[in-house]
Amino acid sequence: MKLAILSGKGGTGKTTVSTNIAYLLKTFPLVDTDVEEPNGHIFMKAVSSEDRPVKKAFPVVDENTCTLCGKCGDFCRFNTLLPAKNNVIVYKEMCHDCGGCEIVCPTNSISYSEREIGKITEAKTYFDSDFYYGTMNVGELSGVRIIENLVEEVSSKHENIIIDCPPGTSCATVAAVENADRALLVTEATPFGLSDMKMVVDMLEEMKIPFDVVINKYDEAYEELENYLEEKSINIIGRIPFKKEYAMMYSEGKVISEFSEDFKKEVEKIITSLPLGRGSRNDS
Ligand code: SF4
Ligand code: SF4
Repeated sequence: MKLAILSGKGGTGKTTVSTNIAYLLKTFPLVDTDVEEPNGHIFMKAVSSEDRPVKKAFPVVDENTCTLCGKCGDFCRFNTLLPAKNNVIVYKEMCHDCGGCEIVCPTNSISYSEREIGKITEAKTYFDSDFYYGTMNVGELSGVRIIENLVEEVSSKHENIIIDCPPGTSCATVAAVENADRALLVTEATPFGLSDMKMVVDMLEEMKIPFDVVINKYDEAYEELENYLEEKSINIIGRIPFKKEYAMMYSEGKVISEFSEDFKKEVEKIITSLPLGRGSRNDS
């Protein structure tokens, strides 16, 4: 079972839910795919055992054979190649590594080189579980390649994983969730929470990934959220109350379940409601 944990926006409690489920389950390695801003390692007190670079190709133009015909620039819809007066300017960071420019070049002037865009870190948590996270280098425009490599690598090693996804519905989120068997959507009982959550609901429905909802920082029922979920027959499998002590522990980088019995019971309820024994999306 690959369980993806998502939220409509940052700060909703996705990492809190992910790290606490990982802490209580122990046998499900956590994978932090929020490569632009990974923070799971802080809560996991991760001790890294290995860093592996993630590389991406970019085109290199042979100026000796290039006729400046402009076909590569016309072809590339990511504006990576700009045939100018004397040479073809290459914006490496914008290349999506599709290989098309090499094919359309009539003089075979394009080859590819590789550059490092980030890394994958393999680590152990302080409670001795496996933990993985990706980090995108500063200045890069997309972490999708890192996320794809990360999820693929961890999936090849472990049957059961928890994927902490980037917030929202960006390409990075899609890359993190697309091979998940099930998802858990963390939201808040506020108008902003509902509005951002609806976009994730649409995305998951489009991708045909079954999911449940957890309401975090729950204070009192927000009628519009409750009505929306009921109308769509979406299960709420957890309501984690808003408590100052939880916020304090989070700010100190603690896994709250270790220090609060009440919080632990809430997360255990969520875990019990998840069909974790099932293997694939089709078994749901
Ligand atoms: S398509 Fe080939 S020959 Fe034409 S501008 Fe690009 S690199 Fe040069
Ligand atoms: S490989 Fe694809 S994305 Fe990259 S420069 Fe060539 S056409 Fe553009």
